[in-house]
Amino acid sequence: MSRQIIIIGRPNVGKSTLFNRLVGKKLALVDDQPGVTRDRRFGEASLLGLDFTIVDTAGWEDDDPSSLPGRMRAQTEASLEGADIALFVVDARAGITPLDEEIARWLREQPVPVILCANKAEGRAGDGGLYEAFSLGMGDPVPISAEHGEGMGDLFEALLPYFEGDEEEEEFEPFDPDDEDAINNAPLKLAIVGRPNAGKSTLINALLGEDRLLTGPEAGITRDSIAIDWVWMDPETHLERPVRLIDTAGMRKKALVVEKLERMSVADARRAIDFAEVVVLLLDATRGLEHQDLKIASMVLEEGRALMIAINKWDVAEDASGLFNGIKAALDDGLAQVRGLPLMSVSARTGKGLNQMIAAAFKLRAAWSKRVPTAALNRWFDDALAANPPPAPGGKRIKLRYITQAKTRPPGFVLFGTRLDDLPMSYQRYLINGIRRELGFDAVPVRLTLRTPK
Ligand code: GDP
Ligand code: GDP
Repeated sequence: MSRQIIIIGRPNVGKSTLFNRLVGKKLALVDDQPGVTRDRRFGEASLLGLDFTIVDTAGWEDDDPSSLPGRMRAQTEASLEGADIALFVVDARAGITPLDEEIARWLREQPVPVILCANKAEGRAGDGGLYEAFSLGMGDPVPISAEHGEGMGDLFEALLPYFEGDEEEEEFEPFDPDDEDAINNAPLKLAIVGRPNAGKSTLINALLGEDRLLTGPEAGITRDSIAIDWVWMDPETHLERPVRLIDTAGMRKKALVVEKLERMSVADARRAIDFAEVVVLLLDATRGLEHQDLKIASMVLEEGRALMIAINKWDVAEDASGLFNGIKAALDDGLAQVRGLPLMSVSARTGKGLNQMIAAAFKLRAAWSKRVPTAALNRWFDDALAANPPPAPGGKRIKLRYITQAKTRPPGFVLFGTRLDDLPMSYQRYLINGIRRELGFDAVPVRLTLRTPK
């Protein structure tokens, strides 16, 4: 569901201009005459990748500038009902007026978070008004220029906290990434994928063996797959930890022999990926890593799921260490975006490595769900830049200013700076690898988005 953001402010502060800027089209009418009658406008807006609905509350006649006009109040009040955030716009050039103060007083009583924007802040002429805006007691004003598109990065930063967690809620029960108990106690959504005959069904049966507490098969997630809730006893800590396992292929594959096997395993993987937090790609030690496996692995990573690889049938593997290292090298080669994926050897038949596999899956989910506080992130960032400054193609240095973690599950980071188009992939990889290795994201796919504040 799209967030709704409402623009509020006295006439002529630049509300429509801001609306146009965010919607990116000349939808609203801009006029120098204060109080031109306009309707409330809705637009689909996008700011550096945040998508929301924007509402321009212009549309009142302003006959008495010293008091909040009744029409404005009524209309704004009505608009506020559906709003998630209010952007309160003041004019940094004109300074704070009594009407601004009245709107501020009124806004403080409304049950909606307010972001104060000091518009027309381009150049120096807005400095005075910007400082005055602090006196409204609505937090730090965000200096912007709607007309020139300045300060949009700062506005993005101010909005970001209200958007965090959006994507998690759609697919997974949200939990506080800082609450380790909540993370550990939420059932781990785990999928085992792999080519036909890799041993998926055998593995699932082994996991659910007699010593496991099976809490009962659940209704189908889709027609072709079932979820099984069970409890894994961690042999290290003796803690019981809930797991929800998806079984796609196992149950039905015997009935559907006519279907093309290759295609089936990819389709199964796709279904499993939709469901899972962590995906285990099961390989067959007697066959090694095949093209199809890489295809499934890339798909898992592209969907932002935490991926680990288990080589099954280790009990019959020949030249075990050669095989292991060969697969490791082929994975690093074929999936260059995430070197060092967790790779382990298991045997569904003997049970070898299964506890380690589940333990690793829990660990991987914790990393996948982790959030680094912005301050710590930027301390690391400053060090990383000092240790290896960004290049200066053509003698012009690329300025990297700030980094923030915009989301978890999977972790996504936004890097702010200028001339980012020239930032080489190798440098982005340097940062991503640093984030993964030094900030505890381990083998999780980490996304980095580059943004140049306008
Ligand atoms: P509204 O009545 O609050 O919707 O204000 P408008 O968007 O119609 O803008 C009022 C006037 O302010 C217009 O002349 C705009 O061109 C001007 N304006 C809007 N934004 C800026 C800005 O960032 N800087 C400057 N200097 N003028 C602006
Ligand atoms: P699926 O198609 O991925 O579900 O694979 P199955 O679980 O049906 O297993 C395919 C074949 O591999 C069966 O004959 C299993 O007995 C065999 N298998 C599965 N796991 C192992 C293992 O760890 N070691 C050995 N030696 N054979 C295994």
